[in-house]
Amino acid sequence: MKKMIITCAVCGAETTREHNPNLPLTPLEIADATYEAYLKGASIVHLHVRDKEGKATQDPMVFKEAIRLIRERCDIVIEVTTGGAVGMTDDERVAVIQELEPEMASLDCGTVNFGDEYIVNTLPTMRRFAKEMIKYNVRPTLECFDISHVTAADILIKEGLLKAPLHYGFVMNVPAAIPYDIELLNLLVSRIPKNAFWTVMGVGRACVPAHYGAFALGTGFIRVGFEDNVYFDKGVLAESNAQLVERTAKLSREAGYEIANPADVREILSLKGIA
Ligand code: ZN
Repeated sequence: MKKMIITCAVCGAETTREHNPNLPLTPLEIADATYEAYLKGASIVHLHVRDKEGKATQDPMVFKEAIRLIRERCDIVIEVTTGGAVGMTDDERVAVIQELEPEMASLDCGTVNFGDEYIVNTLPTMRRFAKEMIKYNVRPTLECFDISHVTAADILIKEGLLKAPLHYGFVMNVPAAIPYDIELLNLLVSRIPKNAFWTVMGVGRACVPAHYGAFALGTGFIRVGFEDNVYFDKGVLAESNAQLVERTAKLSREAGYEIANPADVREILSLKGIA
């Protein structure tokens, strides 16, 4: 039976309580939200943290506190962001790799519009981050917000900076980046190496349609959570990250999948495991 890996991105960097009052912000709230999502079928948490004002921070100490609290609750795979937030420096973003040595981390694969803002990832930045991840045996999720990001990842593969098994994350429907539709998802999937794994993230209203894209193509995994989407239905805010994960698990089961647990993820993506 095919296994569906569900990633939950519980808070992200840009989502606020104005978007959804149920957004977890403190390390404790993030750990509780992660655990609730895990109970509903999430096997990876994509982790950002916030400072005392609720703003995105890459402070390793805050990450350490969130990770400690998550580990008291469950063995979910932790994928730490190196995307950080709009405007952060490379030094700030990458420090978490050395400081935390996580099992997984996101690696943004290019520069792109992000609504009215933009995120910058030059090839030298990508090389630096990829080298750090190799050094600490961290499995990157190659986040692609555009088809050209797949091309950029190809360059790193040729340079030996990315090792199999590869895992791509297709972030679709960020305003002013690649939209979600099945043709574009199929195009992205058709351009990654054979045997590579991928996860689709449908931002905003693309959330549920992207699930069906993953089912239709048959080879992909799914990410949900407040980082990508705060609504459960049109005009109806999600009560929690867990509520979104629960729906993803339900739809996946109905589509013929078994829901992967963290041990499955560690095997499928050849992770180093919890230290
Ligand atoms: Zn993120």
